[in-house]
Amino acid sequence: MKPLDTQALFSKFPKQPLGFYPTPLHKLETLSTETGVELYIKREDFSGVSLFGGNKIRKLEYILGAAKAAGAEYVFTYGATQSNHAMETASACRRCGLKPVLFLYALVPPTEEDLRGNLLLDRLFGAELHITERRAGESVDELKRRNAAAGEAYHQQLTQQGHLCWDVPVGGATELGSIGFAEGFCELTAQLSAMGLRADYLFHATGSGGTLAGLQAGRALLGSDTEIISINVNQKGAEYGENIVRLANGTLALLGAPEGVQVRKEDLHIDPNYYLPGYEQPNEASNAAIRELARKEGLVIDPVYTGKGFAGMLDYLRTGRVPQGSTVVFLHTGGAAALFAEKEILGDLLSRS
Ligand SMILES: *Cc1c(COP(=O)(O)O)cnc(C)c1O
Repeated sequence: MKPLDTQALFSKFPKQPLGFYPTPLHKLETLSTETGVELYIKREDFSGVSLFGGNKIRKLEYILGAAKAAGAEYVFTYGATQSNHAMETASACRRCGLKPVLFLYALVPPTEEDLRGNLLLDRLFGAELHITERRAGESVDELKRRNAAAGEAYHQQLTQQGHLCWDVPVGGATELGSIGFAEGFCELTAQLSAMGLRADYLFHATGSGGTLAGLQAGRALLGSDTEIISINVNQKGAEYGENIVRLANGTLALLGAPEGVQVRKEDLHIDPNYYLPGYEQPNEASNAAIRELARKEGLVIDPVYTGKGFAGMLDYLRTGRVPQGSTVVFLHTGGAAALFAEKEILGDLLSRS
């Protein structure tokens, strides 16, 4: 069978160039020797637009490409006050002449005179910020709903005044956005292939699921047998896996993938054992992984996503769930701005060293 021309599938969509691709791929020498696998890291943290890049930029190239093609003026998005997605959307909008409007809910209440991390960057990018504070006794779900409703009301108001507003859902987890990571999976496969390698395992942290759905779509397109292991960063409902399968297959349909190229539930390997106590709440294994990577490889991961993902991967490597000699890739999805966020997000990062 002739290999599928994946680039021809991707190039049907208007794409707004935002990042610097391909992102680097390199080996972690010390950790490879210690764990007995060939361990590589794919640097989505180097995606651009700014120094604080991350995995949302690939999705935004397609999402904002569509927004630009439609003549949008404002781009709305949603997330927690320290959301990487919101900050990356703000920087991406500024790069291509769109006006960012962020509706953020405060899990950790910010201090106006001492803005930190992504919130400081959001301000610097001049994003229009709307912060929804948590009410006494309010659940996180209620808080998120109230934040979303405030955004919708404002969206309507601006629309009635004649402005074209474009909505980017939480995390950019749409079929169009996931095309970015179908392409990202193909990019990684080509990089490995040029080095004479193929990955047995690909580990990453999963939140909204847009990255995971895209990676799975890319894996299906290439007929790859790389096992993708996705470490949760928050609690997911029972429907999470089904939603990912739907998003991945929706992405394949949008791309016009050949019949039979599909993602099935059995292709997913989602592991909920490393995120507790919760989203934006640190744990010791994650903080230990952050320190270990800093001290053995001189590189930085974050407490909310990549720390938990990396801690999960190390546990797989050290408990023999990944065979010795395997080729393993960790997808560094960004997030280091969280190191400069509120102390609650960092926990005991340094005091145990
Ligand atoms: C958003 C994010 C993720 C998760 O990506 P999803 O596509 O939302 O699942 C992982 N790591 C970092 C640093 C992120 O900002």
